[in-house]
Amino acid sequence: MVKVNENYLKLPGSYLFSEVARRIAAYSQANPQAKIIKLSIGDVTRPLVPAVIQAMHAAVEEMGTFEGFHGYGPEQGYPFLREAIAQHDYASRGVTVKPEEVFVSDGAKSDCGNIGDIFGVDNVVAVCDPVYPVYVDTNAMAGRAGDFQEELGKWNKLIYMPCVESNGFTPEPPKERADLIYLCYPNNPTGAMATREQLQAWVDYANANGSVILYDSAYEAFITGEDIPHTIFEIEGARTCAIEFRSYSKTAGFTGNRCAYTVVPMELERGGVKLNSLWNRRQCTKFNGVPYVIQRGAAAIYTPEGKEQTRQSIAYYQKNAQVIREGLTSAGMTCFGGTNAPYIWLKTPKGMGSWDFFDLVLDKANVATTPGAGFGPSGEGYVRLTAFGDADATREAVERVKAIV
Ligand code: PLP
Repeated sequence: MVKVNENYLKLPGSYLFSEVARRIAAYSQANPQAKIIKLSIGDVTRPLVPAVIQAMHAAVEEMGTFEGFHGYGPEQGYPFLREAIAQHDYASRGVTVKPEEVFVSDGAKSDCGNIGDIFGVDNVVAVCDPVYPVYVDTNAMAGRAGDFQEELGKWNKLIYMPCVESNGFTPEPPKERADLIYLCYPNNPTGAMATREQLQAWVDYANANGSVILYDSAYEAFITGEDIPHTIFEIEGARTCAIEFRSYSKTAGFTGNRCAYTVVPMELERGGVKLNSLWNRRQCTKFNGVPYVIQRGAAAIYTPEGKEQTRQSIAYYQKNAQVIREGLTSAGMTCFGGTNAPYIWLKTPKGMGSWDFFDLVLDKANVATTPGAGFGPSGEGYVRLTAFGDADATREAVERVKAIV
């Protein structure tokens, strides 16, 4: 009889966001009059900007002609998009990334999960705690995480690096050997941003130990601070130890369009093998590229109009983040993040557990949050709030939470 991948059977019960959705649905059913505002939402709500829509319309028209029809495209992405990425996301910041180092994909989630295909099962994996669950679960599925220890809320073969108030939610490199290191800045869920010095320490560690940093920069568009690195490749030595993931999901509202990219530098080699060649082989074998129409839409965000329009969308969410952060802080609550990220990491009052606080706020304020404990043991005592909602609803949610605390 066929054997299933038993690693899947070790995964703990429910995926965090499903559990949040389940509790919200149960509450709504029991309280149909409640008008719930979701500060838990991890999806964007603003429509696609006009420059993207126009480019996609034009691409659809092209597809209806013999001359402009596109069938299977290059698995790595069309040259027009790879070149625009190299130019606008990197060269404009003084960073060299060649188009052939850019792999366009259908999502940073897929890429963060699929990247494990090119690494051996016995690599030691280090993750931040709390963490975007995809890094942990995909390593568990691949058999790299060992067994889940229910009582600790941790996998026994993963290195968990606590991200807590005392280290500014950014860990130092571990004392033990870590081969694959997932870093995410701006951070989901804490909203923290690493400094240039902190990232330099990670790059130096990775180069000294032969590790690879998997740098998820899905929220790069939210960086506002001066002298904050927008890409790991601003850090000296990163080209020999890092892979970077970027996404148009939060940058340009592409969550429903599906387009992202991964940069694998040519200099990055392990065991005498270029990781760029391995990733190229993986993508050519298992992926048939992002639709032409979507890639045309993505390229449009690099035009002057596209840049300005996406900047305005991001500014809308940044304003929401400010409203949440300042509103709750003024009510005596402790908030982190929200300045370089669309996430606010709110400390629960009086040391309440995150799920208890989630239930309380849902019940008394009809506001949905995401419990920090769902992102890892060090997330206990926090909830994550997001800035992706409607501005008026966000303001109202903040007032309602203030009223109950
Ligand atoms: N990486 C992080 C840290 C995220 O929070 C998310 C989405 O929530 C993603 C990646 C997913 O990006 P995409 O929509 O490109 O798959």
